[in-house]
Amino acid sequence: MQEEIIASEKIKIVSDIAASVAHEIRNPLTSVRGFIQLLGKDGLPAQTRGYYQKICLEELDRAQNIISDYLSLAKPDPEYIDRINLKEEVEYVSHILLTYANYNNVAINTILFEAAYVQGDRQKLRQALINIGKNAIEAMPNGGILKFSLEKVNDTALLTITDTGVGMTMEQIKRLGTPYYSTKEKGTGLGTMVSFGIIKKMQGNIEIISEPGVGTEYLITFTILSA
Ligand code: ADP
Ligand code: MG
Repeated sequence: MQEEIIASEKIKIVSDIAASVAHEIRNPLTSVRGFIQLLGKDGLPAQTRGYYQKICLEELDRAQNIISDYLSLAKPDPEYIDRINLKEEVEYVSHILLTYANYNNVAINTILFEAAYVQGDRQKLRQALINIGKNAIEAMPNGGILKFSLEKVNDTALLTITDTGVGMTMEQIKRLGTPYYSTKEKGTGLGTMVSFGIIKKMQGNIEIISEPGVGTEYLITFTILSA
């Protein structure tokens, strides 16, 4: 299954969503506050105390997830536009993801042939690739293989991120990149939106090939800077 992601309509302007993200973080904080108050009561049965504590931790995790998925957008502009060696950045991101991958029984393969220089904000590009890699790992609850490959095709750098995970239907692919679309219990539905926004801003292109039960492949292309 193949779907061209026409990002421009899907991606909301940062200021537009900032307010709704703040709202999403305020909700868990409000409920944590309430439960901490309840925890202060005398003579609470251990079971009840444990239950309140569990809710607090889950809600804080949720706030944490929202913040980390949204991190790059929350950073102040202007952007720091640099000449970026894609090979180095993919290596960096695969290292960052290693612990999370190990924890999920996922092996990471990198096939990075040569340096390819592109233009963009290094931190934001990292954030974009981490979000996509994180999703790939989360799509493999029983383990699997996450592969990063980088090659040059004429004046284009082609970065492929492949997983052997649950895959997506055409309908699901279409909803990728829209705010708050998530199929996960603790999902934020912000990761892909942030990633697609960053890649689009770098004049990059994203194509997704996926098959339920088989896996997903992200094909990301950027124009290579001349030497
Ligand atoms: P979240 O990860 O918090 O759910 P994202 O915006 O990062 O939010 O992803 C949105 C949804 O897209 C996920 O919940 C998942 O259903 C789907 N998705 C993204 N990447 C993949 C992938 N590699 N394989 C399968 N499903 C994916
Ligand atoms: Mg995600």
